Amino acid sequence: MIFSPLFLDLSKKNCLILGGGIIATRKLLSLKDSGMIFTIISPEVTKEIESFAKDTKNITIIRDKYSSQNLSKYYLIIIATNDKSTNKQALEDAKKSDILINTAEDSVNGNVLIPSVVKRDPIQIAISSGGASPILTRVIKNRLEYSIPFGFSALAKIMMQFRSKVKSKFKLVKERRIFWENFLDSPISEMVLSGHLDKANKMLEKDIENGAIENSGEVYLVGSGPGDPELLTFRALRLMQKADVVIYDRLVSDPIMNLLRKDSEKIYVGKERADHAMPQEEINDLLVRLAKDGKKVLRLKGGDPFIFGRGGEEIESLIDYKIPFQIVPGITAASGCSSYAGIPLTHRDFSQACIFVTGHLKDGSINLNWQMLAHPNQTLIFYMGMHGAKIICKELIKHGLNKETPAALITKGTTPEQKIYLGDLQTLPSIISNNEIKPPTLMIIGNVVKLHEKLQWFIPK
Ligand code: SAH
Repeated sequence: MIFSPLFLDLSKKNCLILGGGIIATRKLLSLKDSGMIFTIISPEVTKEIESFAKDTKNITIIRDKYSSQNLSKYYLIIIATNDKSTNKQALEDAKKSDILINTAEDSVNGNVLIPSVVKRDPIQIAISSGGASPILTRVIKNRLEYSIPFGFSALAKIMMQFRSKVKSKFKLVKERRIFWENFLDSPISEMVLSGHLDKANKMLEKDIENGAIENSGEVYLVGSGPGDPELLTFRALRLMQKADVVIYDRLVSDPIMNLLRKDSEKIYVGKERADHAMPQEEINDLLVRLAKDGKKVLRLKGGDPFIFGRGGEEIESLIDYKIPFQIVPGITAASGCSSYAGIPLTHRDFSQACIFVTGHLKDGSINLNWQMLAHPNQTLIFYMGMHGAKIICKELIKHGLNKETPAALITKGTTPEQKIYLGDLQTLPSIISNNEIKPPTLMIIGNVVKLHEKLQWFIPK
């Protein structure tokens, strides 16, 4: 049999479902938004069917066995009982009336398949394996689900809304095609995808009036997470594959760099400790300059751009120059390292708060509110704290924390080279000086560290 895809308007059409089990339920639910009028014939039905019937008027349940009948008033019949002879009889009856037939059994041949659907309303992607393998169909659906942005729904809607305006502005099909292609490639479409519909509407309106999309450059400030590429967000990955130029620093891991568009230009801007490859002002200027040249610029940062990431400074200059931008959060080192080390940052018995602190040394000292930090029922997470560890531990003890408060140092968290050094406030400084510890390192201090022994699960290579 050759199955050909079609999208049908099924509203107000009659659909008969024979059977009330799991398969009938699945089929009913996949058609629930079609607007069809359903009749279900089955002695018993599942709870889902019952609750669906409660919420909608367009469904009648006949609690009986199917008996042979004229089916011509139905547009579609779904044969899904668990009785082979009933299914066979129903198929014969249906064939007499020449209606659409869907079956749950291979032995009973229908002429309609109900596809697996990826929905980005009004866009629908229907998948079928022609009955070969529902499992493979599900795998394909899952892959599509995470590769097609949810924002495509809004994108399709705005294109539909402006379709006739564009049609009357540009008389030639070719002109319209170029206009819409430029639109999809422009900052306006990124605005739609990131939810700025009002602004996008206004810009599109203006560009239609002017007769062309103003395809200016833009900046994506993206957090790449702590290192494991699987911790990237869908949006981060999409923008990584879109950018013309990538400005990245030391914390972005190699497997993540490998996911960038192959032909994009990559600019390294540091920063090794005390060796800022490029001063911050120059990075800010570079972003502005590249975007003004019309480039799609990806500023890729380790972790989250708004946590010890200077993300705020970088976008300030973009605002000054009216350059479109968006910010994509990433998993910060504290979240990534704590999960991969099996150290929860809060716990009902041990810690009611967690504080992210910078342990960066300035002129050999650290200026922090030690009184506030030296508190037993909270977790302290020190970023950039390894070189200041001695001072940090000393100050915390001096301000009242028990010197046996557990502490962990996690290096290269979430990557195959992750290492964890365990100690307490008293021993951590010597653990650091006695080992060759490779950056980046994160320090977690507090009683939650004790849980590592029980909760550890991640096995680095
Ligand atoms: N914006 C980043 C932090 C930048 S500050 C974020 O949200 O994670 C740099 C510090 O982050 C490093 O000195 C280290 O303390 C910490 N860090 C980042 N990635 C790390 C990793 N994979 N393992 C351990 N620490 C990490």
